[in-house]
Amino acid sequence: MSSALGVNVCTKGEFYMRRPGRAPRAVSLPGVTTTAPAAHFVTPEREAEVEAALAILLDSALDPIVEMVLLSRDGAYEAASHDGRVRFRRTTSGEHEVLATEGADPLADQSTDTFVPLAAEREHLHPHRRDNAYPFGFEQVSQLFDHPAAPDLCVIHTAAHNWEDQGGHRGEHGSLDVVQARAPFVIAGKGVRADGLVPRAGRLIDVAPTVAELLGCAPAAGDARLADEDGQVREDVLDLAGGRPRHVVGFLFDGTNPNVLYAMAEAGEAPNVARLIEMGTAYEHGAMAGLPTVTLANHTSILTGRLPAHHGILNNAWYDRRTGRQIITNSSATWPTAMETVTAGVESIHDAVHRTWPDAFTASVNEPCDIGADYSTFGFFRRGEVPPIPKSPDGLPHSTERFVRPSKDYSWSTIVDHMAVEQATGIWSGDYRDATYPAPRFMWCNFTLTDAAFHEGGPHSEIAAAAVRDCDARLGAVLAAVERAGVFDDTAFVLVADHGMEENDPAVGGDWDVHLREAGLTFRDEGYSFLYFGEQ
Ligand SMILES: [Zn+2]
Repeated sequence: MSSALGVNVCTKGEFYMRRPGRAPRAVSLPGVTTTAPAAHFVTPEREAEVEAALAILLDSALDPIVEMVLLSRDGAYEAASHDGRVRFRRTTSGEHEVLATEGADPLADQSTDTFVPLAAEREHLHPHRRDNAYPFGFEQVSQLFDHPAAPDLCVIHTAAHNWEDQGGHRGEHGSLDVVQARAPFVIAGKGVRADGLVPRAGRLIDVAPTVAELLGCAPAAGDARLADEDGQVREDVLDLAGGRPRHVVGFLFDGTNPNVLYAMAEAGEAPNVARLIEMGTAYEHGAMAGLPTVTLANHTSILTGRLPAHHGILNNAWYDRRTGRQIITNSSATWPTAMETVTAGVESIHDAVHRTWPDAFTASVNEPCDIGADYSTFGFFRRGEVPPIPKSPDGLPHSTERFVRPSKDYSWSTIVDHMAVEQATGIWSGDYRDATYPAPRFMWCNFTLTDAAFHEGGPHSEIAAAAVRDCDARLGAVLAAVERAGVFDDTAFVLVADHGMEENDPAVGGDWDVHLREAGLTFRDEGYSFLYFGEQ
């Protein structure tokens, strides 16, 4: 192969030499699989700005806060750090092939078992990239550029980077590293193996296909459980010999670090989570979020089986050059309409259920990714029927007063999660707010307190532990409602989060945007990671 064929096989030294600006195209050589082209890549007119930005971002001055920078150009993908780079391509069969490395390959370690269990994570707080791991690194990077509104550069912050002075928190996520990507994965009940905590890992995109298989949903096309899914059915957790469950109830504890959750379950501090682990199977190494490891991108991945760029919720915020529009999906103001942004043809678990059983009832509780759900909390908002929201968290059950009083976020999330329990238990009782409901074939319950608390104090704080206790009690209230409905033995349960949470280092601050602007570059930084050059 030579660069004349559109694939640059770069050798050390020429890595960042200017390449002829040209749109990537598929290579066709006898016996060589062709590349699957990216939808977004650095165009010739942006090349100079991108090079100037890379020189700044990869300089030693920003090394403490910039883990690596990701980009797509010339038919391949690059991950570049201060001391090394890797260039790779994706073939049409979905494999990834390294074309060149220089210095320390930033994606060299893609192991899923690094920093497990909790003690190992706490012994290596904010690890340097040479000690860190980036599970499914190639797939994570290449999928990002499959969306035409992908950025020119995606900046990955270091584990240590603290940006509390710009709205960040003590606990953070969003990166590619294993602690920020790692979410819990617990599955239990009818049709599920009772193996307890097992030393394995999965991906959040595996949740939807696995749930669809568990319920027995008919395939979409081919043997895909949901249209164009990226995930796969995790047969290793299923045992369908005794039949499939009639109901599945899923729980999302937003932003929960699985090492913390599993340790608390083991210590008796989260008895309902412990019950699910004991009667089912949990991945000790977690289920990895897609890049960027942020909230709505991964809620949508969990429920659709697709990676962020494939379902269209690219980040918390991004910029669409085609329309000149900034898109913000992850805010309370935009949640009710966030799903208008998803790519045409995306299917959710709710859709898979309805495709198979058109009359089945499904419910989406406090979950912005509510595509295809019959009951949806955000549906009320879209219809202008805002449910009665308690004015104060005082006296609400399952709430830790010690944090409800001083923390505004803890207080608000306590109210929101209390409303989730009221809806879920109401629906299972058959009656909620003067409407009657059948037993849902599929219900999804989103709890938000864990994210608020894990951000505020970091994952190893007392406020985070309190949030796990409160959410565990709320989970217990929903399990009890399923028991009262008389269908517990005919139900399976899933518990995940949307991403991990990592404690950063308040001594490591700084802002790459300041350095880029000082160099005279014009750009937008969306979601504090997606850089679009030449845009105001
Ligand atoms: Zn989240």
